[in-house]
Amino acid sequence: MYGTISFFSFQCSLSYHAPASCDIMRNWFKKCRDDSETANYISANTKDCPKCKVCIEKNGGCNHMSCFSCNHHFCWMCIGDWKTHENNYYECSKYRGQPQSQLETIQSRAREALKKYLHYFERWDNHQRSLKLEEQTRAKLLEKIEQNINAQNGTYIDWQYLEKAADSLAKARYTLMYTYPYAYYQEDTVVRNLFENIQAQLEVEIENLSYQIERSTTHNRGDIENQRHIVERRRQTLLLKYFPKSNS
Ligand SMILES: [Zn+2]
Ligand SMILES: [Zn+2]
Ligand SMILES: [Zn+2]
Repeated sequence: MYGTISFFSFQCSLSYHAPASCDIMRNWFKKCRDDSETANYISANTKDCPKCKVCIEKNGGCNHMSCFSCNHHFCWMCIGDWKTHENNYYECSKYRGQPQSQLETIQSRAREALKKYLHYFERWDNHQRSLKLEEQTRAKLLEKIEQNINAQNGTYIDWQYLEKAADSLAKARYTLMYTYPYAYYQEDTVVRNLFENIQAQLEVEIENLSYQIERSTTHNRGDIENQRHIVERRRQTLLLKYFPKSNS
């Protein structure tokens, strides 16, 4: 199996997996089942810091990592420097394969097809993992809020923004997950490039929000509320443009 969402428990409804359509999701789950052998090796929750090589365990959903040993900031997904993941420079989500015209042999076409699938599968799979890890972070936050209230350190109204931020993060990460099958099946490169720009803009802000929530003691309420609004707006923009039928 490739995670918690199996084909059989999958509830089909249009808004459930927006922006991907039912056909896209049927094909995607079939593809994941058929290729589960190839994709099985992608399950590591430890990786080495690209700078100092110390082993790092991923225990949060955020993919913006900072090494505990040398403080190098890098991307969990591609191991690249996080500096190349900021705002308009965010390329990590985009697939840039070789054009068909340059692929002369059957083998090179097959290799390219596998590379393309793995790019999308790894990201789909990783965001699914992030969703689960962020659910744990949310539960810990709620515990902390309760402790604060019990210790007369503010009321629920003072701490509600953290819960709201975690909820927006989950909703946006969920949408982001489904953008990967959508992009995988988008054959028109012009349409796909445009889509992947909007997807990248959503992804970078999701990672920023996740980063702030994981460090909510050092980020103040204003920052987190502001970031939540940015994420919500970007999610709405993507859905309105590519899935106008969905309304949430
Ligand atoms: Zn469906
Ligand atoms: Zn390091
Ligand atoms: Zn990356």
